[in-house]
Amino acid sequence: MRRNRFISRARHSADADTLGKLARRLSESASRLEDRLWERRLVELLNDRLARGFDSDIDVALEELAKTSPRAYDDLADLAESCAESASVQIDGKPQDAMLLAIPLLAWSRYKLPASALSNALVDSLTAHLSGHLAAAGTRVAVADYLFSIDQLPESFGEVYDVAQKLIEAAAQGTRMKIDAKSLREPVAMLADTRYVLAAIVGPQSQALFHWQETGVDPDAKIGALTAFREQAGAALQPLLTGCRYRMLSPNAFHAALRQADRELREFSLEAAIAYLKLAFDMSAKDLQATVAAFEDKRAGREFELRVGISPGNDDDSVVEGIVWPLLGDEEEKAQEDIENALRANGITRVTLHAQRFPLEYCDDCGAPMFPNPAGHSVHTETPQDSEEQPAAPLH
Ligand SMILES: [Zn+2]
Repeated sequence: MRRNRFISRARHSADADTLGKLARRLSESASRLEDRLWERRLVELLNDRLARGFDSDIDVALEELAKTSPRAYDDLADLAESCAESASVQIDGKPQDAMLLAIPLLAWSRYKLPASALSNALVDSLTAHLSGHLAAAGTRVAVADYLFSIDQLPESFGEVYDVAQKLIEAAAQGTRMKIDAKSLREPVAMLADTRYVLAAIVGPQSQALFHWQETGVDPDAKIGALTAFREQAGAALQPLLTGCRYRMLSPNAFHAALRQADRELREFSLEAAIAYLKLAFDMSAKDLQATVAAFEDKRAGREFELRVGISPGNDDDSVVEGIVWPLLGDEEEKAQEDIENALRANGITRVTLHAQRFPLEYCDDCGAPMFPNPAGHSVHTETPQDSEEQPAAPLH
């Protein structure tokens, strides 16, 4: 027994090695022909690892490439994402391409944001909107019956692969995919956050999956199709989102949709914070000021984000709302510029930019991030004074 485990462990690390080597060769390739060969070999190995539950080999390879070869890292990460979220299946003996989609929405509320089951009627309605607006003729679509928060979604390549396989199977068979809500984490409560519906689309191999890819259809039909989908699918979700303001984003392949939602959540959170202060405390943007500073975790060396503290215009010490602004690959200056533009667009013109770096701190009691104030300290948010509203945050 022990001997077998040893052999199998050695083989796994050999596979991680092979993944790293193939990814390096792919990153050096200068022609489409050579690209395709390396990609095919990588895809075969990635699919094998995912299907057999050894996705940790992929993480090991990525960890190693992150230190030594950023281009090979990107190439391998792209392919691993694509393998985890797509599949080839058969329907009546005919090969099909299939893909896991995520449909993100951005929402904010002064109450708790929902993360909950979707009724059969709502699943049917979303399926109809996907089929009607987006899917090519001859494809099949399935929607999972849950509105997920980000921390309830599958995370590792292996978890994404497992969910994709199940939902793709449901689409191929025309059955429902039931999510066991008890197996999901309780979402972290935020003023503004993302929510996701998961879906799968299956269609004949190498043919159009989406309507705008069909022969004879204007490729720009995509723009109108996505707009119509967002409006109508958004309206269908309304009953689930009472008391929330929300915006549907476009459905996309799972990993790309999550990235896009993370990116758009930054400015949406800022708008939400300012709108919330007006709604709950009658504080207008023109009477507010903002402070922007970088927060970093020196130990990890990689954790780095900008945080924005919102303070009353006449108070350089308290912070009444805060927004975390992760860089997501942007340069620091670009992110600072984006924040200032977003603040200005929302009516806040007084902005203090601290050059000093703050430690990446959270409150010991409630876990909330600390935010910068104009005076140059990193502080806990406080409920605005002189307000009738009872503080929603825990008192400590
Ligand atoms: Zn706290």
